[in-house]
Amino acid sequence: MGQILNAAICVLNSKYIHSSLAPWSLLAGIETYCDQGIIAEVTEGTINEDLDSIVQRILAKRPQVIGFSCYIWNIDATKQLVRLVKGAIPNAVIVLGGPEVSYNAADILREEPLVQYVVSGEGENPFALLLNAIYHGEDTHNIPGVSCWMGKKLMSARQYITDNDPPSPYTEKYFNALKGRIAYLETSRGCPYSCAFCLSGFGNVRYFDLERAKKELLMLANSGTQTVKLVDRTFNANRDRAVELFRFIIKNYGSGIPEDVCFHFEIAGDILDEDTISLLATAPAGLIQLEIGLQSFNTETLAAINRKTNVERLKNNIRKIVANGNIHIHVDLIAGLPHENLRSFAESFNTAYDLRPNMLQLGFLKLLYGSLMRVAPEKYPCQYACRAPYEVTETPWLSSEELQYLKHMEDALQRLSNSGRFRRTLDYLLEQIRIKPFELFGHFGEYLTAKDTNRISLNDFIALVFEYFGDQSGINKMTLRDMLVCDYLATNSSGRLPPVLQVNDPALKCAKKKFKRDRSAITQNKGRRGMALLYSEPCVVYAYYQDKNPITSEYSLSKVNKDTLDLI
Ligand code: SF4
Repeated sequence: MGQILNAAICVLNSKYIHSSLAPWSLLAGIETYCDQGIIAEVTEGTINEDLDSIVQRILAKRPQVIGFSCYIWNIDATKQLVRLVKGAIPNAVIVLGGPEVSYNAADILREEPLVQYVVSGEGENPFALLLNAIYHGEDTHNIPGVSCWMGKKLMSARQYITDNDPPSPYTEKYFNALKGRIAYLETSRGCPYSCAFCLSGFGNVRYFDLERAKKELLMLANSGTQTVKLVDRTFNANRDRAVELFRFIIKNYGSGIPEDVCFHFEIAGDILDEDTISLLATAPAGLIQLEIGLQSFNTETLAAINRKTNVERLKNNIRKIVANGNIHIHVDLIAGLPHENLRSFAESFNTAYDLRPNMLQLGFLKLLYGSLMRVAPEKYPCQYACRAPYEVTETPWLSSEELQYLKHMEDALQRLSNSGRFRRTLDYLLEQIRIKPFELFGHFGEYLTAKDTNRISLNDFIALVFEYFGDQSGINKMTLRDMLVCDYLATNSSGRLPPVLQVNDPALKCAKKKFKRDRSAITQNKGRRGMALLYSEPCVVYAYYQDKNPITSEYSLSKVNKDTLDLI
């Protein structure tokens, strides 16, 4: 022996800021289960990067075996990458793994002749065993979780699932590569629920050692990242464990956990109890973010997708957490689910909007390989794209035109609401125009589509908002302008209003002079400032660009009466 087997583990992340945990978990598997003589390194890239440069990085490691982690967001680019790599190193053994190939391993092997092996399920152990077998020149046809060809016979393996805790991926190499990006933490695998569109469920969940979870949590919090995202599918499925970890995080804030780090959890909102909500209320503002998948409020839809939800309790719990004001709340709805038509979706949307989350994400149903919705088309009849991400294009309840309408609406929702830039303006518009949020975003979404606003600047977008809503009945243009001014000053530290909101008024010059001259009488603050005159109320409004609210990302606004300043 004495020879070395070089393996490369590659992943294409969706953006630079994301760093998939999968290759690091596989590396930890290799370091734990592989024999001496097998060495591996991780190569990360993004789907938007030039593939040739990623190929060069892979080639530099002279790998003999190359594994790729496959997801819906990277499968097309990964297949191209495989072709390029294989062109450069024809002898390299190509192994694919990950959720996008785990449920269709046989199809992948038939369709992708350059791929020799597909790992299904949890990859740490199977990939390491495969490398061991290749290294020793042993039979590779009966490794659990590994599908491959044996001559003309396809050896199709079942998903590999183990009860053991996987080896920790958080090695020195991981931290060296993280460089302040979002850090992902896994403290459990699986989900006790079985939503028909999801791969994480099937009713099984297993929890890793709790002390390990705490230790890793502290390591990640001190890694230089600002966000630690728990990848646990339903973090609070085990109530006591979730409470213990929430309590641990709150207790360590400011000591073991730096003050600028926040933790993001995906939870089920309806199973939160009063004690947990009270505990969460004690968290310092911005320390904890919660993502709550609502999917729909339509009971027929929820039943069809096997989503057991106590809707009333869910709504009450979200209201309570939002009212506490210390936690960023993100909720999700999915368009295109069974029995969801435009009317029922509008109701779900308006209900979700009224809960006043910080972010309301509107996603579109994707039919993932292995999901119940994909394997039982008679129960879930719908049309979907044949290429990843397999987004639904039409259902018996929602036409393709209606889905298109929702796409435009989602664009308006993102820009107006989820951007956090128009909070006051939206409240004013909804109160004055007296239409439901669904209609407001829907109509504005169509207007934006007609205007072709893909690459529009923020200033031009604000001008469009002013133009479109300024003409609506019930809207006072001056008040609308003032709302936009307040929103702009609270969310944009340039301090310079967009041209459409500027008013040539000598009183503003006068106010600025008075602020400069008599600062102590008005405010002690000497920091950088934005200022404007309002006309719907006799005020000067100003913001100091120092501390942002960690929940809303806004600078706080102050107002002073024009009479106090004695403006001419
Ligand atoms: S959608 Fe969420 S709750 Fe449902 S099975 Fe998937 S991870 Fe679990």
